[in-house]
Amino acid sequence: MMKFSVLIPTYNRRDLLYRTLSAVFAQEFPADDFEVIVVVDGSDDGTVAMLQSLRPRCGFRFLYQPNRGLPAARNVALNEAQGELVLILDDDILCAPSLLRKHTEQHSHAKDLLVFGPVPLHPDSPPSLVSEQWTMYCKHFLDRLKRENGCGPPLKLWLAASAPAVNRSIPRRLLVDLGCCDEEMKDCHEDWDLGIRLWKAGVRFHFQPDAIAYHFYAKSDRDLVEKEAPLIARGEIALSRKHPEYRPLSMLAQMGSGSLRKRIFVDAAVNLPFSFERVLRPPFLAFNSLRMTPMFNRAGARLLSYRSSLKIYNEAARVIGSRKGLKAEFGMRLPVLAYHHVGDSRPGTYRDLSVPPDLFERHIKWLRRMGYRSISPADWVRWCRDGTGLPPKPVLLTFDDAFADITKYALPMLQHYGFGATVFVVTGYIGGTNAWDKARGSAIHPLMTSEQLRFWANQGIEFGAHSRTHPDLAAVSTQAAEDELLRSRDELAALLERKITAFAYPYGRYNEAVTDFARKVFELAFTTEQGLNNLNTDLVRLKRSCIGPQDSVVDLEFLLRWGMGRLPHLPAKIKTLRQPLPSVTRRFLRGKYFDRGAKSSN
Ligand SMILES: [Zn+2]
Repeated sequence: MMKFSVLIPTYNRRDLLYRTLSAVFAQEFPADDFEVIVVVDGSDDGTVAMLQSLRPRCGFRFLYQPNRGLPAARNVALNEAQGELVLILDDDILCAPSLLRKHTEQHSHAKDLLVFGPVPLHPDSPPSLVSEQWTMYCKHFLDRLKRENGCGPPLKLWLAASAPAVNRSIPRRLLVDLGCCDEEMKDCHEDWDLGIRLWKAGVRFHFQPDAIAYHFYAKSDRDLVEKEAPLIARGEIALSRKHPEYRPLSMLAQMGSGSLRKRIFVDAAVNLPFSFERVLRPPFLAFNSLRMTPMFNRAGARLLSYRSSLKIYNEAARVIGSRKGLKAEFGMRLPVLAYHHVGDSRPGTYRDLSVPPDLFERHIKWLRRMGYRSISPADWVRWCRDGTGLPPKPVLLTFDDAFADITKYALPMLQHYGFGATVFVVTGYIGGTNAWDKARGSAIHPLMTSEQLRFWANQGIEFGAHSRTHPDLAAVSTQAAEDELLRSRDELAALLERKITAFAYPYGRYNEAVTDFARKVFELAFTTEQGLNNLNTDLVRLKRSCIGPQDSVVDLEFLLRWGMGRLPHLPAKIKTLRQPLPSVTRRFLRGKYFDRGAKSSN
């Protein structure tokens, strides 16, 4: 039995294939222990004649088929293979003499492993900004691999998707069992798909840094922008639809995220009715010829990446059918508003946390007029998973602490205007008061009772947990924090006889241990960090904008559209207010906020 089968599909690259094969035949590996299988995928450049002339010492076969694409050619090669292990290469991968030996070493240590090595740029590749981009890509990959500590389990899905498809070796049986490449994903991300399927099947990935195979990279900028970018767009869509877990990693998920400048760029890219390519290419060519100067090098690299991105977003919109469709599937942004107390303010309580009922009504009327529709936390989770089911302008309304007043004003008003909401309950104080604020020097409000919670749950209001006793979860012990999360969830679930999936961190405070545990016991958890949520946003660190009495509908407009306020950020103020301050400072702060609140609510 042979030990290794090297699989090489090829299409019209006779001379390069010759170099590739010479490097494989020259392996420091017993010739009897490996075979090379080439599948010629419809080449008409004399490849077959070249292959007929070869007489290597190792096993060697080639098959010819009419052009059917890379995945099909890889599958044919796999069917032909007889080795226990297969090494996947391409016709432009020049391997180091030790490659097979390095791969074998790892497989002899552990069973059922996928071993992959780096694929740096071959020094003979024609120099250009395009090939330099490959080097940058490899560097980013290795940096991230180091950062994520990505060897062995638990391995990130990211690695499975983006580990080089070539220079991978794996027991042949595993590939055959899995059905190898999906031929439907013709020429786009079929290798990423295979990686994800292997990962889902429980195969462990192992990075072997000295199993090196060089990429002979001869693509031009036109190849990259005009041929490769459309394939990437189609691949990203197909992969995201096939593997929902991949959606947040997709390049298309970037549509809704990033800096304001970037979002404007992406919006423009998707919405432009014409191609910018003719304008952008000439300066790129100029920068490319001046690339020895760092400044031009950077500018050229950036321009090349802009050109590719423009093409990818444009093509993605074309494939999905419309720009709107692309946004609906990948680019939604969700504003979440956090109210606390809605009702008449009480002397001695935190003024910033009380919204007068008439102002609240103005907010809701305005939301309705502007076309916003409320969604539930479950709606957002579903969209993140499969990209469907959101209204064009979604908003999530939340209320922290479950003050009793909201049953009098806010909840009936929401019902009247056709909105839903999610209320976060401090389960240790149901039917009591916000005693945690009293300890910090504030007067108190009554909280909702069990009957009220049950009544409103039956009216369609959603409830989430907000801990048992409202502690600062970042300041208590891990054990205590876990207890707060778990018990508040279970107590609320028992009271309302339904599954509780959402949590809000008291004071918006959390640390890594708290979010890790929240991920285990809830589907999503809300902070008080300002901003909009998108496909990239961690579901246990969802952003929310706190709304106070000073927020007019103009503020709302800023928050919903851009995720930022016109006024200084309220959570910062909450933190200040909720520190036990000397009473003089406290009075000073309250006075200040009182004035502003009075002005804007007029
Ligand atoms: Zn709270």
